[in-house]
Amino acid sequence: MSSVTVRVPAKVNVQLSVGPLREDGYHDLVNVFHAVSIFDEVVAKESESITVVVNGKWSDQVPTDDNNLAIRAARALAKHAGRTYGAELIIQKDIPVAGGMAGGSADAAGALVACNELWGLGLPFEDLMEIAGDLGSDVPFSLLGGTAVGTGRGEQLSELPTGGTFHWVFALANGGLSTASVYAECDRLRAASGAQVPWPQLDDDLMEALGTGDAYSLGAHLSNDLQQAALNLRPELGPTLEAGRQHGALGAIVSGSGPTCAFLAIDALHASDLALSLTSTGAAHTAVAAHGPVRGATLA
Ligand code: ATP
Repeated sequence: MSSVTVRVPAKVNVQLSVGPLREDGYHDLVNVFHAVSIFDEVVAKESESITVVVNGKWSDQVPTDDNNLAIRAARALAKHAGRTYGAELIIQKDIPVAGGMAGGSADAAGALVACNELWGLGLPFEDLMEIAGDLGSDVPFSLLGGTAVGTGRGEQLSELPTGGTFHWVFALANGGLSTASVYAECDRLRAASGAQVPWPQLDDDLMEALGTGDAYSLGAHLSNDLQQAALNLRPELGPTLEAGRQHGALGAIVSGSGPTCAFLAIDALHASDLALSLTSTGAAHTAVAAHGPVRGATLA
């Protein structure tokens, strides 16, 4: 095989509960991931060494050296296989960079699936999940897709059944937010308030809404403990969220560490109307309608 193409989705967190800061600097999380139909494409082509090319409107914000998560994934896979392999990775980037939608993790997951195929390794999904877990806490979910709850640092995943398709609008911001700086702001806010941080718990009402496919209830139970921190760092997101609510969004939330804002719509038609309203009123410069859940990294 001389070329393999893989499509990988973005994610939104429909619940992101952040526990107290641990001694190792991480937080215990309850993180309900939901894969949505905004995709990066990763093509792996035969080559002597592992290299990456990034195309698409976000490409100038993505490193092409060894810091690129797709390169790190391909190297980790080759190491696991115990041999030196090469691949030219070509990424078509549609997932916003540093947007709270796990775009880098998506590319890492895409590279694992693509190189497993290109190099004829035939490693089972479980092995790819293990390598993914070492690459970053969102990478296993990018492989898995669907809807799933992550505990621990987010990397211990259990799939969640959903009772239907949900329709979303994502307002993309100019420029990203670093996940580390949002967590640091969250810790700062908590230290300043002095309040006891509760242990994170899975929201039963949210589970039920996902299971029955009830968009109204899901919209009412979306939650993100990082939202206030993201709003402190990017105050202009407050009016964007408010504009979505004014235009009938069932729920409006910062996606993960932001700055992308996620709006839950009633149906596909409402999602396209909402996207148009957000851009035409200037509440968002770009708004994309999408649906979920969708499959994780998949061979095209
Ligand atoms: P998360 O939602 O998992 O916290 P994010 O969506 O906010 O992540 P990413 O798009 O994954 O953020 O990018 C975070 C940083 O990772 C970027 O600023 C970029 O420098 C770096 N990076 C490395 N490889 C990639 C890649 N293939 N695509 C995007 N960013 C990458």
